[in-house]
Amino acid sequence: MEPRRGLRPAQRLHGKELEGEGAGPGRGLLAAGGALLLGVFQRREPGSVLMEINTDILILGGGLAAYAAAVELRDSGREVTVVAKAPGASALNSGAWDIADSPIRGPRDEWAEWPSWREGLKEILRRQEGHPYSVLARGSGDGKFADFVAAKVRAAAEVLPLEMTEGDPLALVTDFGTVKPSAWVQASMRDADLRRWQRAKVLVLGIPGFPNFNARFLRHSLLEQQERQAKSHLDFAGSLDLEIPDLQGRVSLKPVELAQRLDREETFVAAGQAIVRYLEGKVYTHLLLPPVMGIENTRAILEALRRITGLAAAETLSGPMSVPGWRLQQAIEKFFHHRDIERLEGEAVGFDAEGRRIKSLYVHQGDQRHKVRAKAVILATGKYVGGGVARRGRWKEPVFNLPLFLQGKALRAQTLPQVSRPGVAERQPFLGAGAAINPMAQPLDADHEVVYDNLFAAGAVLADFNPAQERCAAGVSIVSGAVAARQAAAVL
Ligand SMILES: Cc1cc2nc3c(=O)[nH]c(=O)nc-3n(C[C@H](O)[C@H](O)[C@H](O)COP(=O)(O)OP(=O)(O)OC[C@H]3O[C@@H](n4cnc5c(N)ncnc54)[C@H](O)[C@@H]3O)c2cc1C
Repeated sequence: MEPRRGLRPAQRLHGKELEGEGAGPGRGLLAAGGALLLGVFQRREPGSVLMEINTDILILGGGLAAYAAAVELRDSGREVTVVAKAPGASALNSGAWDIADSPIRGPRDEWAEWPSWREGLKEILRRQEGHPYSVLARGSGDGKFADFVAAKVRAAAEVLPLEMTEGDPLALVTDFGTVKPSAWVQASMRDADLRRWQRAKVLVLGIPGFPNFNARFLRHSLLEQQERQAKSHLDFAGSLDLEIPDLQGRVSLKPVELAQRLDREETFVAAGQAIVRYLEGKVYTHLLLPPVMGIENTRAILEALRRITGLAAAETLSGPMSVPGWRLQQAIEKFFHHRDIERLEGEAVGFDAEGRRIKSLYVHQGDQRHKVRAKAVILATGKYVGGGVARRGRWKEPVFNLPLFLQGKALRAQTLPQVSRPGVAERQPFLGAGAAINPMAQPLDADHEVVYDNLFAAGAVLADFNPAQERCAAGVSIVSGAVAARQAAAVL
């Protein structure tokens, strides 16, 4: 059968493809990099294929969904290659992994009465037919599916080289002073769970020159919210702007810059000692910190602050730009590295298919193009932030040209105002646009038929859930990543 080329016309390959085929040093980016140094490959004009990689399973994307797929495949004996162009939404994650929040929970309900994620999941399965959880749960029964979700999230947390802790549910403080439910959180934030606070006396710590975190505003916001609770979680709150050695007089400090500075032992120990001096004669029980407590040494920093001050210390969740998100992305990269997973940095721009089977993908890396032959492909390209969903003239999934769905229907020529609402705080339907899948995580065409037998999709790219507003985003990425990986391994 004639290979079908999936490239858009403007991106068709030209020049002599696969020049040097057979002369390459073997599979992989590192190997090819070595060959380039040795001059095995000649410099080619942009457009020719420089390197060919063969793999069993190609995971497209480098975020949480891709990670979960790689975790599922870790002992499968399959060759796995990850292709990602850049960090996506996972690198902006607040520090929490939301699994499922009830679609009928009121935002002002008592923290103590917030439902568990299992209850939230039950409501989603009952009310949201097109939600990825509902699709993936088809035929398995609610209880069994909930156990599957719990097992996959736990597995993802356990092998991640970043400490995550579980609570069901947690009531976590954000860096804006609001409180949100979640189920898993980076260990450095565990003690900022308001449900466990009993008449806490909290010192909120700001850093002069770091405008992202306003300690006084956060203190007021927390006290205001406590007033609406029947139970006294918070007794009183104070705030302190703490000068960090080396950073005095600096303005507009960037979160990552600050975190890197705090990673140094002399800096965080000095910060702890300065807090102790301030605490003299005061009766605080908790220390609430901006979410910039290091990238590499977060655990050591929190332990030192707890030891030196004698207080329960925790970071708040983070808004973008997020140091906790960066920690998560780095931990994912470390996992790929330690597991010897081939990692190619580049953008997939097109593909070859024969009938209903994808054969290979074309990947741009700077002015070079590579061809990755794969037996199965997992599309984990995220939504608008990652680049897996786009509206450029029309709605489309950019790599495979899959139709995008919203509320069970394929999007065609709808304009943005037709799929959005005027209120800033309203749920925005267009944020739910994505690829529709069947229970095997296979993407569907506009007639709800499977498009390619060896293509699977996972994560934020999926249709009919809104990762920005529904509080189930990390759970959906992890669970769908695991399902997609299982199914991909099954078609080899
Ligand atoms: C500010 C913010 C805060 C958040 N906070 C929370 C939270 O508190 N709790 C929670 O549960 N969730 C939260 N989320 C959402 C959650 O983190 C994401 O939904 C989830 O991490 C998405 O993972 P993903 O792997 O599906 O997509 P992404 O992380 O977006 O990854 C997509 C990947 O695909 C790659 N890619 C895309 N197109 C191509 C291509 N053509 N070729 C190669 N690579 C490509 C991208 O470069 C990227 O590596 C937050 C998201 C944001 C933006």
